[in-house]
Amino acid sequence: MQAFTPVFLKSAARPGDFPGDLGREVAVVGRSNSGKSTAINTVVGVRKLARVSKTPGRTRLINFFELADGRRIVDLPGYGFARVPLEMREQWRALVEAYFRARRSLVGLIVTVDIRRGLSDLDETMLTLARGLDVPTVLLLTKADKLSRGAGLSRRRQIEREAPDGTIVIMFSAVSRAGADEARTQLADWLDLA
Ligand code: GDP
Repeated sequence: MQAFTPVFLKSAARPGDFPGDLGREVAVVGRSNSGKSTAINTVVGVRKLARVSKTPGRTRLINFFELADGRRIVDLPGYGFARVPLEMREQWRALVEAYFRARRSLVGLIVTVDIRRGLSDLDETMLTLARGLDVPTVLLLTKADKLSRGAGLSRRRQIEREAPDGTIVIMFSAVSRAGADEARTQLADWLDLA
């Protein structure tokens, strides 16, 4: 598999700021603190592509990175900060929904979920949205290193039952790198980089 050489393309606060909708892109979304930034950095193989420390309440942006010519990974803003005001949550929803509706180049979605927490309402909303648009989805069950193997497998089975049919479930840990190669292979496959 060729090495990724990611470059930051741009941040967008509104659809008018999205980069050209050509080629292929894979979006990553997840609850705040689910390990989304860490997962992006681990799977892409760059130490600090997505920023790992974020302040709740800051303007939510969609960050576009190019991994190869016309092949992008898109860091969607996280959700679920309890302290975020309703108005900002509505902005988040409008921006993310506009993104899903607009992007013809979207070929895959990765949803990061802390394996210990399971699916939140917004995780389910994202999975349902992707399914309705026929966008293949990976559910990345992060922080698998925090559970014993047996507990991890039982959480996985439970979450698999809750996810829409066809969702690809990968147990993942940035610490042990479990699932990292599988996630990377899926990303390369979606982006036609294999
Ligand atoms: P984000 O808000 O979803 O982007 O989450 P971050 O990537 O910032 O991670 C949130 C916290 O979880 C940080 O303290 C990370 O170091 C930690 N974390 C992320 N992934 C893992 C993992 O696979 N294992 C463990 N043990 N901690 C992780």
